[in-house]
Amino acid sequence: MTTAPNTVLLVEDNEDNRIIYATALRFAGYEVIEAITGTEGVHFARTRRPDLILMDISVPELDGWEATAIIKADPETKHIPVVAVTAHALPGDEARSRAAGCDGYLAKPIAPGKLLVEVDRWFGRTTSSYTPARSQDSSTNPPR
Ligand code: MN
Repeated sequence: MTTAPNTVLLVEDNEDNRIIYATALRFAGYEVIEAITGTEGVHFARTRRPDLILMDISVPELDGWEATAIIKADPETKHIPVVAVTAHALPGDEARSRAAGCDGYLAKPIAPGKLLVEVDRWFGRTTSSYTPARSQDSSTNPPR
């Protein structure tokens, strides 16, 4: 059976963020694989072959840049788009993410609705089924 690409590997060590993002993605119809460390992220990229990877940069063991470089050096996984998600938001972070092989870049804090818009864009989907809550974009800083 062939199904449309819909699997997102979420690499995020902060439990609150992981639950919020995973819940939002599942609500929008995505299958979500959760990983806490960069090492787990590389492992699930290889074993589960997700269609998209959301990669928190600040994760234990391997950081998100190191994990991305490994994924992009592996012929079996290098085709998978990796979107870096960083709380650093330092000048140069985006360039460093690109250098590591990341295909996209998002700066935290990112509201769940905004995340869904970005993920939908990668899958070529419209976002008409839900409306990002504008008030969430100006919420106080979530845990990182
Ligand atoms: Mn983190």
